[in-house]
Amino acid sequence: MAEKRNSPFVWVTWLSKLMSGEISCEWAPWFRSHYQAYDKAPSDFDLATWNIRHTRLLREIRLQRQQAGDEVLVEGQAQFYYERPNSGLVLSGKPDLVSFSGNTLTVHDAKTGQPRASDQIQVMIYMYCLPIARPEFASRTLAGQVVYESRSVGIPPSAVGSDFEKDFNYFLDVLESDTHPHKAPSENECRFCDIGPLSCPERVTAP
Ligand code: SF4
Repeated sequence: MAEKRNSPFVWVTWLSKLMSGEISCEWAPWFRSHYQAYDKAPSDFDLATWNIRHTRLLREIRLQRQQAGDEVLVEGQAQFYYERPNSGLVLSGKPDLVSFSGNTLTVHDAKTGQPRASDQIQVMIYMYCLPIARPEFASRTLAGQVVYESRSVGIPPSAVGSDFEKDFNYFLDVLESDTHPHKAPSENECRFCDIGPLSCPERVTAP
């Protein structure tokens, strides 16, 4: 039985997919933000293979940055909890790796699948939140990099300006609101959604 959270909690990947338009069902990230311990739909995703490829790519990034003389923090070392001002909402994320070179902190995220807009947005959210949520990073210039298996995409510090801040807050409002946002059941989207039929009776299953 799903339990209502005391206050909204948002994971960065829920927000990045909503901001990128890769999901049409706004209700799914809203529900996860307001409820926990809900019934989970079975998944056929091959997590073991994904983990191995991701771990290997991340290890290669770390070795490359260390060979360049950078200091690095990986995963749990760079986790943050961003407390939204004048709100009980907490946004949390765990960048794959951050590296320090001079005064610049670069957020690196390893991706093994097809490139998606949400990959870059995810890193931009990290770049926005890290200096606020982790005061030890506040004086740094933040850059980003999404690393795929065959190429990488750099994100300059200027990408996270006032326009990004407005969009970030617009979509956080959607997740924070007590009003249920749009639910859009479809076979395409429901098959990748972890919310089970007890919590979402409209869930569409493949014939
Ligand atoms: S199962 Fe489908 S309709 Fe239900 S929340 Fe998930 S994506 Fe939306």
